[in-house]
Amino acid sequence: MPQSADKVKDHISLFQEPEYKELFANKKAQFECRPSDEKVAEQAEYTKTWEYREKNFKREIAVINPAKACQPLGAVFAAAGFEGTLPYVHGSQGCVAYFRSHLARHFKEAVPIVADSMTEDAAVFGGLNNLVEGLLNSYTLYKPKMIAVSTTCMAEVIGDDLSAFIGTAKEKESVPADFPVPFAHTPSFVGSHTTGYDNMMKGILNYFWERESVKERTPNAKINIIPGFDGYAVANNRELKRYLDTMGVDYTLLSDVSDIYDTPSDGEYRMYDGGTTLDDTRAAINAKATVSLQEFCTPKTLEYIGDKGQETASFNYPMGIGATDAFLMKIAELTGKEIPASIEKERGRLVDAITDSQAWLHGKKFAIFGDPDFTLAMTAFLLEMGCEPTHVLCTNGSAEWDAKAKALLASSPFGAEGQVWRGKDLWHLRSLLFTEPADFLIGSSYGKYLEKDVGIPLIRLTFPIFDRHHHHRFPTFGYQGALRVLVEILDRIFETADAASDISYDLTR
Ligand code: SF4
Repeated sequence: MPQSADKVKDHISLFQEPEYKELFANKKAQFECRPSDEKVAEQAEYTKTWEYREKNFKREIAVINPAKACQPLGAVFAAAGFEGTLPYVHGSQGCVAYFRSHLARHFKEAVPIVADSMTEDAAVFGGLNNLVEGLLNSYTLYKPKMIAVSTTCMAEVIGDDLSAFIGTAKEKESVPADFPVPFAHTPSFVGSHTTGYDNMMKGILNYFWERESVKERTPNAKINIIPGFDGYAVANNRELKRYLDTMGVDYTLLSDVSDIYDTPSDGEYRMYDGGTTLDDTRAAINAKATVSLQEFCTPKTLEYIGDKGQETASFNYPMGIGATDAFLMKIAELTGKEIPASIEKERGRLVDAITDSQAWLHGKKFAIFGDPDFTLAMTAFLLEMGCEPTHVLCTNGSAEWDAKAKALLASSPFGAEGQVWRGKDLWHLRSLLFTEPADFLIGSSYGKYLEKDVGIPLIRLTFPIFDRHHHHRFPTFGYQGALRVLVEILDRIFETADAASDISYDLTR
């Protein structure tokens, strides 16, 4: 055998060994019942045509590779950004394994989330006993300061009432009566992870501002910032704090995962690390204003905060020149703080870098897929650089997102040929790329199958990134982040130019 204890091979080389090649060939011949290779190739060619595209876009029932995730994934992400908080999912265990693995594969960190593992009996009789025992075990074993409960589809389909169940669990002394257990119902048959983020954020604020004790608001000069669901939050939150600290702003970041998803290897396992303190969360009701960095991650939360009397503002994942300008000017307006010369200088350096590379960027065509705020941010930044977004696809985009994306494209001559695809999946995108190709594809690791299939280079710039390491440790937010995004794009442009060149395989680009 090619594999032995003395010679352990990685699967990439192992599966090239003759034994495995024969095994795969036998499996294909004996068990796959597939048509001939010629027939498969013929059908594959047909799926690249306009005719197939039209059929594909008439698809109503099936969704194939949607670029979105479940509501509870967003809920556990939001909860993880608070001090000593254990995200708890009321529902089936398999779903929660998926949330854990999704986050762990992206951040390369252990991701503590508990599940109360409802099975058939809970589906029939309700999940109250699971929650009562689950809260008791979680509180006793993992010693959190807060347990934030969300739900999977199973608990939602049978109609479990979290408010009543948590009340009963407290009566049964699973946790002390005054122990914070905020919750959010997060059915995944509506919305996506961005909806779940919104629901959990609102649930946590509602707990501290109304359920724990009804707070009277005493306004102060602080501002709250909600980052939203962001695969680059580790670096982006740190970058955001650097800007705010440089400006001398008094702020509270509501849900900060930058420590829990980036713990050091120093011999100590940290089940909890960093995060917004519970006292700061309680006091956040008094802030002058709340600013959301991702409008489509926070509609209900901002409405709730607005009803409490705070000013609210939202952005679409500030990245690039115009978006960062708008964000910083809003912070300056809200706080009365100046934007310091050091930040202005960073802006100037970004403009300089884009100018240096203008000849390579101009007119390049890009297809983009991802979350609503990311796709808007990416589109805006590409337009700023003279690139042409040709397809902007958002599986979890709303009608408002659609209108914003179209208005954004219409605001620039580089957007003239851009098309907006709301509610479409990556199989739709495959048809689009075969019939109306772009030069590059921007999205998550899920785009790698399109890259291989369609032959359009993928630039990984959003969640999830499973197949590359440490991207999340470098920011995409602000001017510095935009510089990093610019370099990612340029590297791909140059690699592609080099790979295609024989005569002009130049040393200098
Ligand atoms: S869609 Fe529902 S059942 Fe499926 S993994 Fe997500 S939460 Fe679980």
